[in-house]
Amino acid sequence: MTNTNVVTLNNLIGGQWVPSASGVTEPVYNPATEEVLAYVPISTKEEVDQAVRAAKEAFKSWSRTAVPRRARVLFKYQQLLVDHWEELARLITQENGKSYAEAYGEVQRGIECVEFAAGAPTLMMGKQLPDIATNLESGMYRYPIGVVGGITPFNFPMMVPCWMYPLAIACGNTFVLKPSERTPLLAQRLAELFIEAGLPSGVLSIVHGAHDVVNGILEHPGVAAVSFVGSQPVAEYVYRTGSAHGKRVQALAGAKNHSIVLPDADLDAAVTQIISAAFGSAGERCMACAVVVAVGDIGDVLVEKLQAAADAITIGNGMEEGVFLGPVIRGPHKERTLGYIETGEKEGATLLRDGRKDAATSGDGYFVGPTLFDNVQCEMKIWKDEIFAPVLSIMRAESLDEAIEIANQSEFANGACLFTKDGGSVRHFRENIDAGMLGVNLGVPAPMAFFPFSGWKKSFYGDLHANGSDGVEFYTRKKMITTRW
Ligand code: NAD
Repeated sequence: MTNTNVVTLNNLIGGQWVPSASGVTEPVYNPATEEVLAYVPISTKEEVDQAVRAAKEAFKSWSRTAVPRRARVLFKYQQLLVDHWEELARLITQENGKSYAEAYGEVQRGIECVEFAAGAPTLMMGKQLPDIATNLESGMYRYPIGVVGGITPFNFPMMVPCWMYPLAIACGNTFVLKPSERTPLLAQRLAELFIEAGLPSGVLSIVHGAHDVVNGILEHPGVAAVSFVGSQPVAEYVYRTGSAHGKRVQALAGAKNHSIVLPDADLDAAVTQIISAAFGSAGERCMACAVVVAVGDIGDVLVEKLQAAADAITIGNGMEEGVFLGPVIRGPHKERTLGYIETGEKEGATLLRDGRKDAATSGDGYFVGPTLFDNVQCEMKIWKDEIFAPVLSIMRAESLDEAIEIANQSEFANGACLFTKDGGSVRHFRENIDAGMLGVNLGVPAPMAFFPFSGWKKSFYGDLHANGSDGVEFYTRKKMITTRW
């Protein structure tokens, strides 16, 4: 039942915050308390159409606004985001559940995207060759592509949208964002601050909702390109459907990231990194460590250390001081995770630490304690699937090659990490692992905004990745001019 004391979010269309006409809403919960924070409208395709039409209109002048003037809006926006850092971090913790410290870090990652986008005058530059033949020259100019649609997941309500709209807009495009219906509050605040920074009406629109809005974006003839981040089946669907409708699509998908620990590694440092990568953000990161492969005879010692570190984790509301592990996003996701723990037991993995038994799991909020499985095998569902929760699988291998072979069997290939002091092993790992983002002696090798977020295999659908020079290529098109003098 609708709680009338709680606001229903509006869409942002043509610079106006307008209520959705759909009449359908969903509650937005604080996953740590189950309190309803707001209602999010489940908008219609017609509302997508209105937003795209407003974005097309805004494109006419925004795409022709001098690039340094566009960049100045980004500079102002950067300052406003810095000024509102704590407020944004609090909002992330409230709607997503991750700890305030992690939310604070997420704001930083979002701001870095805006900083990168503010370099548009340099990023947008073309190239010339003055002598391609006698008295003949050639040059390449870069232009925006039009209206871009962005569809984002719940797990990084600030960072992931910031991978998309600041750069797209700095490049001269206009943007229609559909934030996750589970974490829509931050998107509203991000847009308000962008408008305060001087963004003209219609350059950024927000249409809240679910499947209908996504399909509205994918099918709309006025949308030139789609950036998607979310789970693998939806990424594949978005890629296929958007491409079939003639759009440029980049679709970043799920993951199952392995960390390989060699016998010469600093085990205490490795454990600190792995625990943080496996259980930080409740395991709800596309760069989370889901599997540890212990190489050689260190297995038992590593397991002991991981177990002790997992036992020391404080579980609770991310706004409370000292809390490391917050809730997962929703009740059904908690149920799904508990289902995987049961499956792991049935499949014969050794349940070393049972996150169902932690005290926090029985009160309000969608809590699952840190869960550790040992002796996991590649045939098991708990190894194959992305669980996206605080569940860490441990495997054993005789050699680095065997560990790499295990990791390379996964259909996902977002990230992989190696813990070692040996340079030769690092090179061997780099050259042989099938993953697009590697870490050495660190747990979460997420590239910064000026590098591409380069997942491989089923972790990415498309040609050009998000961020960095790939992002600029994705959000621009080129014109070649050849001149005879
Ligand atoms: P999700 O796929 O459920 O939702 C993502 C977006 O797609 C949301 O906006 C949602 O409304 C929409 N959506 C969901 N189901 C849909 C459907 N059937 N048809 C059309 N649209 C649909 O993902 P999530 O649970 O919000 O996010 C977690 C997933 O995102 C994980 O798999 C994680 O690995 C992935 N992720 C990947 C990256 C990366 O860089 N590769 C980054 C962050 C998250």
